[in-house]
Amino acid sequence: MKLVCIGRNYGAHAKELGNALPDEPVVFLKPESALIPKHGPIVLPTFSNDIQHEIELVYSIIRKNGKAQADKVSIGLDLTARSLQKALKDGGLPWEKSKSFDGSAYVAEAFTALESFPPGHHIDFLLKRNGIVVQSGHNGQMIFPIDTIIADVERYMLLDEGDLIFTGTPAGVGPIEAGDRLEGYLLGELLFDLTVEQPKAPASHR
Ligand code: ZN
Repeated sequence: MKLVCIGRNYGAHAKELGNALPDEPVVFLKPESALIPKHGPIVLPTFSNDIQHEIELVYSIIRKNGKAQADKVSIGLDLTARSLQKALKDGGLPWEKSKSFDGSAYVAEAFTALESFPPGHHIDFLLKRNGIVVQSGHNGQMIFPIDTIIADVERYMLLDEGDLIFTGTPAGVGPIEAGDRLEGYLLGELLFDLTVEQPKAPASHR
C-alpha cells in the first residue's frame, strides 16, 4: 500500500507558500511506515522543530475492470517539516526527508462512500488546533479534482486497490507543538482528535 500525495492543489495555499499554480498535479509519495497509529498520538520527530499541519481529503482506491477509481473519502494529515522542505526545494532536491518521515501521515478511520454524495456536492472539511479553526476547505476548490489526479498519476505508476491519495491542503497551514490538540472534521463530523507529543529521546548508545 502506498500513500500518493498531491502538492499545491489549492490556489490559496500555493500562494501562501509563494508557489506558482501548477499546470499538472505535483506528486510525491509517503511510505506506509509514515502512518501514525490510529488515535495517535502525533510524536514530533527529533530532526526538526518546524513541523506544520496540512489537513487534506484522502481518497481510497479500488480497481474495477482494470481501472483505478476512488470509491470513498476521509480526511488525513500531511505533516511537513517546513523549513527542511524549503531548503530541499531551494536545493532542487527531493522532498522526502521533509514529507515522508515516520509519523508524517495520519488517516482517519471512517470513510464515506463517494456514491452517497449527489453530483457536485461539496465535501467540506476543516481542522481545529486547540479549539480554533485553522484550515477549512472543500473538494470544489481543488485545482485538479480526484478523477484528474488518478488519470495523471496512472500515466506514471500503478494505483493499487487500497492505495490512498492525499489531495492537497487548503490555505492556513501552520506550526504544531507539543501539547497541541488537533481535531479533524469531515462534513461537520469529528473524525479525529489527536494530541501532539514531544520527540522521543533518542536511544542511548553504549
Ligand atoms: Zn500536503
